[in-house]
Amino acid sequence: MAHDPSPNRTDLPADLPTALPSTLPVTDLTRHRRLREQGSVERADLDAILDAGFVCHLGVVVEGRPLVVPTVYGRDERQLYLHGSVAGRSLAGGTPVCVTVTHVDGLVLARSVFEHGVNYRSAMIHGVARRVTDPEEKLAGLHRLTEHAAPGQWSYARGPNRKELAATTLLALSLEEASVKIRTGAPDDGDGPDAELGLWAGTLPLTSFWGAPVPDPLLPPNTPVPGHIARRAGTRHG
Ligand SMILES: Cc1cc2nc3c(=O)[nH]c(=O)nc-3n(C[C@H](O)[C@H](O)[C@H](O)COP(=O)(O)OP(=O)(O)OC[C@H]3O[C@@H](n4cnc5c(N)ncnc54)[C@H](O)[C@@H]3O)c2cc1C
Repeated sequence: MAHDPSPNRTDLPADLPTALPSTLPVTDLTRHRRLREQGSVERADLDAILDAGFVCHLGVVVEGRPLVVPTVYGRDERQLYLHGSVAGRSLAGGTPVCVTVTHVDGLVLARSVFEHGVNYRSAMIHGVARRVTDPEEKLAGLHRLTEHAAPGQWSYARGPNRKELAATTLLALSLEEASVKIRTGAPDDGDGPDAELGLWAGTLPLTSFWGAPVPDPLLPPNTPVPGHIARRAGTRHG
C-alpha cells in the first residue's frame, strides 16, 4: 500500500530532523537475541512492512495486566498513529507500549517437525505512546490513518465532525525504537541428516488479495463504485 505523504506536517517539534536515521537503533529493547539471522536494521524494511499492512497489535499493560489489542494504524515519516474510542483503556497513552505488525508469507514445511516454521515479515515498535490533543495534529493524524487503510476515502467520505473528533482518541508512537525480522526461503534441514528420509519438504506460500467491492444492500440502485475503491479489487494485500 502506498504511503501517503500528505498532509503538511503539524506534528514535529521545530528542533527535530524531518527524517529518522536510515538504520534502526540497536538498543536493549530492540537487540535480537534469538533467530538473529532474521533480523534487519534497515529502516526501509520497517517502512515497507508498515506500508504493506494496516492492522497492528498494540501491547500495553492496563491495570497491571497485559492487553494485546488488534487495531488499525497509519504513519508518517516519524510516527505511528493509532486511534479508537476515548473509552478505550488501551489508548490511555503515557505508558510504555509495544506494537507489532506481521505479514505471513507462507508455511515452511521441513522434514522434521522441529524445523517447521513460517516465512514472514514482522516489525516491533517500542515506545511511550503520546495522546494527541492538538486539534490540527489530531485531524492530520486521523487523515494519515484513514488514507493508510483506505486510500482516497478521506476526501470521498464525510469528514469527522466536532462531536466525533471529541469521541476519538489518537495516539502517536515514535518510530525511532523499532526492530524488524524477516524470514524467507526454504526449510533449514535440507542439508542435514533428515534429508535422507526421502520426505517432501518446501514452502507453501500464502498471499492475500482484495476482493470485488460488495455494495451495501441499502444503497440506491446504480450508485457507482468510486474508482479508488474499484481499482483495489484483485490487487495484493500484505
Ligand atoms: C508469524 C510468525 C510466527 C512465528 N512463530 C514462531 C514460533 O512458533 N516460535 C518461535 O520461537 N518464534 C516464532 N516467531 C519468531 C518470534 O516472533 C520471535 O522473533 C522469536 O520467538 C524470538 O523471541 P524472543 O522473545 O526470544 O525474542 P528476542 O530476540 O529476545 O527479542 C528481542 C527483541 O528483538 C525484537 N524482535 C523479536 N522478535 C521480533 C519479531 N518477530 N519482529 C520484529 N522484532 C522482533 C524485539 O525488538 C524484541 O524486543 C514467529 C514470528 C512470526 C512473525
